[in-house]
Amino acid sequence: EDILIEVRNLKKYFPISGGMFSKVKGYVKAVDDVSFSIKRGTTMGLVGESGCGKTTIGKTILRLNEITSGSVKFEGIDIHALSKKDLRALRPRIQIIFQDPYSSLSPRMPVGEIIGEAVREKKLVPEDQFDDYISQIMLDCGLQVYHKDRYPHEFSGGQRQRICIARALALNPEFIVCDEPVSALDVSIQAQIINLLNDLQDKYKLTYLFISHDLSVVEHISDTVGVMYLGNLVEYADKESIFKNPLHPYTSALFSAIPIPDPDVKTERIILEGSIPSPANPPSGCKFHTRCRYCMEVCKTVSPEMLMVEKGHHVACHLYTGENK
Ligand code: SF4
Repeated sequence: EDILIEVRNLKKYFPISGGMFSKVKGYVKAVDDVSFSIKRGTTMGLVGESGCGKTTIGKTILRLNEITSGSVKFEGIDIHALSKKDLRALRPRIQIIFQDPYSSLSPRMPVGEIIGEAVREKKLVPEDQFDDYISQIMLDCGLQVYHKDRYPHEFSGGQRQRICIARALALNPEFIVCDEPVSALDVSIQAQIINLLNDLQDKYKLTYLFISHDLSVVEHISDTVGVMYLGNLVEYADKESIFKNPLHPYTSALFSAIPIPDPDVKTERIILEGSIPSPANPPSGCKFHTRCRYCMEVCKTVSPEMLMVEKGHHVACHLYTGENK
């Protein structure tokens, strides 16, 4: 198997300050022992409610955050063990696209320069081919060449996201973290951007980690899907098996909230009781136990291990660990 990204026992804890003169009061375990891998040329969707740690995972994989413990390997290279110099050399190959395209685009720079700035700085293409290179990237991203001289404020939200995608693509990356890239856009525009990302994946052999709270978006782009709850990955499987047969009670609840277009199909809508507990003070045992309708005694004290219950389908829940028998 051609694994491009391998995340092992990743932990990212943020200290909680006790005020100006006192020591650290504790830690927010934003990512707490998460493992998964992504095959080259595929997309892993990462879903969960806000505050579950999915964005922190994206940033930590790219080393925009330092790691607390664990490892992230890109083609077998441990990203967090690299020297600053080697990390800089690797940077173009691992890119990120954010939710809000406008805030990440310099308002005083024309679009051609925005897209080409880092390409020129890193001398990725010879100067005499630079203009053609940038024009081609823009066309591939659904932008017109005459847009080069325009400024970000002259574009719609969808076009701005195309500019951000073009800027990332111009560096010839292999892996892109897409962090809620369509959440701020209208539904019709969302579909266009998802189609664009799918087309670019085929053409440029890209691998994506696609972070979203929106399952219907994730369904259109992912090959595998991971579900996060309070810093833990609770289920992880091929898209077909997780959508057809969600095993973790949290996944079932999330998926039952997706509207189904066919009125003859009746699915029970599972309403989650209570709100998400604070990540600074998560429940003991299975962190979902305060909201789970199947909660057993063991769930309150023992954290369930991630197990493979069918080929490629992993779940962390005592309903499957045998602890309930
Ligand atoms: Fe529910 Fe227990 Fe499974 Fe957690 S381990 S999801 S509390 S059944």
